[in-house]
Amino acid sequence: MKIGILSTSKSLYSTKRLVEACVKKGHEAQVINHKRCYMNIASHNPSVHYNGIVLSGFDAIIPRIGASVTFYGAAVVRQFEMMGVYSVNESVAITRSRDKLRALQLLARKGIGLPVTGYANSPGDTADLLELVNGAPVVIKLLEGTQGVGVVLAETRQAAESVIEAFRGLNANFLVQEFVKEAGGADIRCFVIGGKVVAAMKRQGREGEFRSNLHRGGSAELVKLTPEERSTAVRASKILGLNVAGVDLLRSNHGPVVMEVNSSPGLEGIETATGRDVAGMIVEFIEKNARPGKTRTRGTG
Ligand code: ADP
Repeated sequence: MKIGILSTSKSLYSTKRLVEACVKKGHEAQVINHKRCYMNIASHNPSVHYNGIVLSGFDAIIPRIGASVTFYGAAVVRQFEMMGVYSVNESVAITRSRDKLRALQLLARKGIGLPVTGYANSPGDTADLLELVNGAPVVIKLLEGTQGVGVVLAETRQAAESVIEAFRGLNANFLVQEFVKEAGGADIRCFVIGGKVVAAMKRQGREGEFRSNLHRGGSAELVKLTPEERSTAVRASKILGLNVAGVDLLRSNHGPVVMEVNSSPGLEGIETATGRDVAGMIVEFIEKNARPGKTRTRGTG
């Protein structure tokens, strides 16, 4: 098969591993920088152009779209779908999961456990918003943030009000969430492929840090999931329509709660912590599922 990996850099760990896994299984792999793709969207013959050539002959693509280029990256994935190329994660599912509010609303509607979460637009509603999530301590998150940047723990009502005021002053979109203290600065990353959790790790924030992000000095180790955690992760990916997803859970007193579902989950942390060949499993999923024209949405949903 000819497999395209949409990624902005060949030297990223995840990209390298996916190329390696494709080649090892006898496939042709090409890294395509989606930021440098251009396309004729009005044509009857949809195509993607890159470096002066028309990209063709692909059996499947693996989108690795960073948060800062979701909009354009999803358009490139959509164009491949219009060409009938199988995408491991479809454009609609990627945009669904990237919009944190939309994703949480979709999960809530299907009864997935979530931290109590509030969102408001008007400055006059701060007090009521804090009430809604049962008051301080609360976690306040910028909607555009990644890797723990823009995630603030406000331990008192006064601190919460100041942070909210500051975010509003910057015209930033944010949400306010119950602080799941009992998680003890740890979260669980479940790596889901094709409706199964294939690897899971527990990430622990460094001493005194409530955020467990590895980029913030957290550490990761293999973890055994409960059946409830496993089914929550699988259901969350399914609800958002993702075949490959990183589902982040917190262990709360009222069971597992989903914090986020990532459509381009990194491979380095999970492969290192679990010793599993996750890249290989993604390629195996493609081998079983990729068919020409097998795109549910054809980029139009
Ligand atoms: P990002 O997407 O920027 O990584 P997250 O929402 O995943 O932001 O938050 C970063 C980290 O902060 C999480 O991995 C988790 O350890 C911690 N955290 C986030 N929300 C909560 C919460 N409501 N209660 C307790 N800890 C939280």
